[in-house]
Amino acid sequence: MKPIPYGRQHITQEDIDAVITTLQSDYLTQGPKIEEFEKKFAQYIGCTYAVAVANGTAALHLCALALDVNENSRVITTPITFAASANCVRYCGGEVHFADIDPSTGLLDIQKVRQLLESKPKGYYQGIIPVDFAGYPVDLEAFRKMADEYNLWIIEDACHAPGGYFTDSKGIKQNCGNGVYADVAIFSFHPVKHIATGEGGMITTNRKDIYEKLLMLRTHGITRKPELLHENHGGWYYEMQTLGYNYRMPDMLTALGISQLDRADEGIRRRREIARRYDEAFRENSEITILNPSVQEPDKGVGISHAYHLYVIQTSRRKELYDYLRSQQIFAQVHYIPVHTMPAYQELGWKKGDFTLSEAYYQKCLSLPMYPSLTDEEQQYVIESVIRFTT
Ligand SMILES: *Cc1c(COP(=O)(O)O)cnc(C)c1O
Repeated sequence: MKPIPYGRQHITQEDIDAVITTLQSDYLTQGPKIEEFEKKFAQYIGCTYAVAVANGTAALHLCALALDVNENSRVITTPITFAASANCVRYCGGEVHFADIDPSTGLLDIQKVRQLLESKPKGYYQGIIPVDFAGYPVDLEAFRKMADEYNLWIIEDACHAPGGYFTDSKGIKQNCGNGVYADVAIFSFHPVKHIATGEGGMITTNRKDIYEKLLMLRTHGITRKPELLHENHGGWYYEMQTLGYNYRMPDMLTALGISQLDRADEGIRRRREIARRYDEAFRENSEITILNPSVQEPDKGVGISHAYHLYVIQTSRRKELYDYLRSQQIFAQVHYIPVHTMPAYQELGWKKGDFTLSEAYYQKCLSLPMYPSLTDEEQQYVIESVIRFTT
């Protein structure tokens, strides 16, 4: 049996051909594939605008800039996420604050956020960055309602959840990242994510003002649009109107993204199949708790549809199980070490004990292999190995 990772990309001949075609074209970066990818991605997610960028971290940074995060900003996020969700605030000089998770979902607990907001005068906090952790959609309708009370913006970190959705109080299906309740959302195309381009990211929004800012910030703060220029000296003329970055996604990678996006629905279906098999295998296992088992029926269009970036179980013998699986060539992973316990956050005054639910979750969590190209045989081997260990 070859090693089984917790996640991996799936590259087909079509993907390879798509990249080769752009390599033979006139554009390696800043070509026509970027806009095509943006249009198709926006359509897939169901939002108005999409901006392709260098990676998910760059996407977060640009969103923070576009929302005017600065030295006076305080922003709330979850400890159970990849560090980048929090770091983007610090890139802009702002302060990161955390609220604990709801242990039943692993997501930022809206009640905990509310307590934090109520503990300070209005205006103290500027924004919230909730994360669709593991692919389980945040109830953004509820977050929006609270954000409006406190005049906050929302960046949805939807890296784990392209293809996930929740149904809102009006019975409308809301895709993760569609910008109906959040101001902006971000995605990553890192190889373990649903759509893999090596490096790559996307920002989605329905706000035109933010969209215009993002386009400029992505490319050095430069614009060539005649209607935006202060002066115009001729065809060569451009203006750098704000301090921006080079956060573009190259044409050849967006070509790969387009090809991958064509298989997104297929990938989600396969992820759900894998999840159901794990659910069945472990439901009665007294040593294992499944985080967000699929009790809902996503295909009937009600409730919540999990995008299954990760399949997370919890067990009190986590380290032993992790080590055992490794000995069996199964490379399960831990998501995540709480961000506030990282040395670079402890330096700022956060410490172990600050968010006990996140820390307790971290003690027990383990992500089992979950990716569309995981075969039935491989999954069976994973299931049997886990069961052998737990019984
Ligand atoms: C992957 C990921 C990121 C960062 O994406 P990169 O493309 O690796 O920069 C941010 N947030 C979450 C939740 C992620 O999983």
